[in-house]
Amino acid sequence: MAAVTVDYADQYLNLIDGEWVAGRDDQWIDVESPRDRSTIARVPRGGEKDIADAVDAASRAFPGWRDISPRARGRLLQQIADAIEPHVERIARIISAENGNALRTQSRGEVNFAIDVFRYFGSVASEVKGETLPLNSHVLDYSRREPIGVVGAITPWNAPVQLAAMKMASALAAGNTLVLKAPEDAPLAVLEIATIANEHLPRGVLNVVVGYGTEAGEALITNPDVGKLSFTGSTAVGSRIMQAASERIVPVSLELGGKNPQIVYPDANEDWVAQGTVTGMRFVRQGQSCTAGSRLFVHRSIVDSFVDKVTANLSTLTVGDPLDETSDIGAIVNKKQFDRVCGYIDEGLHGQGSSAAVGGLPPTAGPLAGGYYVEPTVIVGVENNWRVAQEEIFGPVMCVIPWDDEDEVIRMANDTHYGLSAFIWTHDIGRALRAAHSIEAGWIQVNQGGGQVLGQSYGGVKSSGIGREFSLEGMIESFTQRKHVSIDTSR
Ligand code: NAD
Repeated sequence: MAAVTVDYADQYLNLIDGEWVAGRDDQWIDVESPRDRSTIARVPRGGEKDIADAVDAASRAFPGWRDISPRARGRLLQQIADAIEPHVERIARIISAENGNALRTQSRGEVNFAIDVFRYFGSVASEVKGETLPLNSHVLDYSRREPIGVVGAITPWNAPVQLAAMKMASALAAGNTLVLKAPEDAPLAVLEIATIANEHLPRGVLNVVVGYGTEAGEALITNPDVGKLSFTGSTAVGSRIMQAASERIVPVSLELGGKNPQIVYPDANEDWVAQGTVTGMRFVRQGQSCTAGSRLFVHRSIVDSFVDKVTANLSTLTVGDPLDETSDIGAIVNKKQFDRVCGYIDEGLHGQGSSAAVGGLPPTAGPLAGGYYVEPTVIVGVENNWRVAQEEIFGPVMCVIPWDDEDEVIRMANDTHYGLSAFIWTHDIGRALRAAHSIEAGWIQVNQGGGQVLGQSYGGVKSSGIGREFSLEGMIESFTQRKHVSIDTSR
């Protein structure tokens, strides 16, 4: 890989009670860059004692933060947004170096999205309103929306800054304090955001601990002083989070995995649709997105020519060094995920009658063999019950499954325990709405394949999650609890 400039420290620390501190056990995790497999920095391997310190700090900070007026809290969040702005390029480069997302197509947009998140939740902080019940003239009966206390949040590596910013801004806007367990594979840019945020927040309001899920993560979800768990990650770990929460009866929000269908109707055999399905599959994020439309159901009458259009579109995209401006697609986050994705490709290509319309197993020699690069792969001739069509691969692998009638395709689309998102491609709005209302998913897109927008009630159904955090309503539901007050004013 060519030499590039990325401005990061060799070593990062945890943020606890406004101070930057090493892990109490002095253990460290090396952060490897998937672009060339080099170690770029080390971070604390936080554990139970670090989490306990962070939760104590957040508990102490809570009453003061709760009692700051919501508009003043919102202003602080907006100051954080302004303060991140001059650092977009530097932080975007760090994301690309640590998780392999391409700088031009992904990482810059991600940091800008995070800025927007702080602005959005900063501007709605004062909209956390309760209700009044109209009873009679001498009774005042009203509800308050109160912050819960210490929120324990856990986020993944695939969009580390965006997802961490969502937890920080929404939990804090509602008046909670936060302990965030940052992802061990991509913690650096999150710590950069925390550095900026910490300059604008009272001490202890935001705490960030890095560590493994089974150590720091477990310590956070079982800590008795955490009043709410907010998790984004895999369904398997989400289930463990819910189990831990059930033991103490604390509320959870879970944003989990997906195996999302894209349905292409016979009237949609067009280039813009093919391009839309490529966007929907999140190929420029190496398919490492929970909303990736990885099951492409194409009407049998158009399947061959539509797949030709998809492969033609993919041939315009370049896989390469995430820090190179000419790369559209970067690297898979780490060796474990790389091996997993390769395993699925291998298995998918060994199914009866299947083949790769494009892509396949990655090169073992040449410039891309030095990192974790996988070409976009489209597997045709797949049956809906194969593992590649049922399990979340979280890599650039799309399976093409032909269909004949609408009931059949809806049945296949719903034949999954996931229910996060879906994409429908047709000119016939009646058909599109019929399908949209029949598909079991939290978010349906018709004739578009983009990412989430702030203000949407984004989230999953079935095993894809519980709760919504992307909007004002989501913030209120997820990060406050209702208290009802009834007063007889005649006495
Ligand atoms: P993961 O579940 O393995 O890890 C996510 C986080 O949980 C990490 O910080 C990890 O350290 C922590 N963790 C792991 N085990 C834990 C435990 N026992 N207790 C507490 N914390 C624990 O997921 P990942 O591989 O990092 O991310 C990919 C997954 O995230 C995919 O399934 C993807 O679909 C999902 N995701 C969902 C959304 C969404 O909005 N629905 C967004 C992004 C990613």
